Amino acid sequence: MDLPQALQPLHAFFMAMSFVLGCMVGSFCNVCICRWPSGESVISPRSRCPKCRNAIAWYDNIPLLSWLLLGAKCRHCSLPISWQYPLVEAVTGVLFLLVYWRFGFTPATPIYMALSAGLVIATFQDLSDWTIPNEITLPGMLAGLGVALIGMTYDKSMLRVLHPLDALDGMALAAFLICLLDGVTVLLLKKPGMGFGDVKLLAMLGAFLGWKGVIGTLLIASVLGSVIGVTMIFVFRAKGEAKEEDEEAPAEPEYPPVDSLGAIVLGGCALYLLVRVAVALQFSQSLPPELFRPLLAGAIAIAALAGIISGFSLYIYQQQQRERKHKSGAQEEAVNEEEEEMITLHGHYLPFGPYLALGGLIFLFFGPELIRLYTTAMSAGPVSPGLFP
Ligand SMILES: [Zn+2]
Repeated sequence: MDLPQALQPLHAFFMAMSFVLGCMVGSFCNVCICRWPSGESVISPRSRCPKCRNAIAWYDNIPLLSWLLLGAKCRHCSLPISWQYPLVEAVTGVLFLLVYWRFGFTPATPIYMALSAGLVIATFQDLSDWTIPNEITLPGMLAGLGVALIGMTYDKSMLRVLHPLDALDGMALAAFLICLLDGVTVLLLKKPGMGFGDVKLLAMLGAFLGWKGVIGTLLIASVLGSVIGVTMIFVFRAKGEAKEEDEEAPAEPEYPPVDSLGAIVLGGCALYLLVRVAVALQFSQSLPPELFRPLLAGAIAIAALAGIISGFSLYIYQQQQRERKHKSGAQEEAVNEEEEEMITLHGHYLPFGPYLALGGLIFLFFGPELIRLYTTAMSAGPVSPGLFP
């Protein structure tokens, strides 16, 4: 009996421990989300109440419990503590539990726990500050390449990527696809659609999940984005235009121009991918027929979803323009032009990071099942045997 089997009776205990560990790491994630955007250190000074600046004692800093026991209020100033803190802790806890449940006692578990924590930080910082931290994505890409080396050398690792070249393919495909989507948005709107942070975020996911993971993540994220985005349009319509004031972004978000840099990345990645596909075709001579249909269908699906996202951005942009014309009288036009420009930029920028992170996590947990489901559904079609013998 090997070690994992011997520990089987303690399964529930380790599930609980994973959740507790996740809550503790989530507590640290909160610190990163609050301090990284303003460039503060995450180690010192120790945690303070953001309103009265009093230091928080260790017994008031226990994940989830302290927030509940204090009734969501600061002990010193009695002002409310944001529900974002316990939410981040609980989400990280659940993700750690899922990682343990899925990967058990393998090298994949600590690696994917760290990845989950990074994605939690990226998601909540993108939602609150409209930036995705380089502190996560840049070391994350390198870590993904390193993890692929473990996958190559240790065959019981349970990792999703088993060769550094697969990680590199994932990164290149991710950067290529996001820059392509961005290029479409730039052409249609004459303004950047997704930030360059999204490129780095999906490239990091590509390093951990490979090129199949990138396609899967992007498809899941696009479906989630379309569904949630369309739902939000209807909610906004129902509540009237007053609601839109609350959704305004914080002032002066970091907004790197993606046009020129994006074009360079796009070209470089396209070249790399062309060479990779050419080399792969050279070795395999021909594509297996059972793979052709799923790949073709996937390519069409991505093109269609890219169209939906672009159309969605265009719709929001037009709404914003109409509102702008409605609001600003002729006399104010010249004075506030610069300010109005900023609001328009905020208005049509879509924070795609949270969808990418969620898509990546879903693929991390259920990727092999989703791929199996997809290939069987696609190759079992009634036309397939005749069309591609
Ligand atoms: Zn306070």
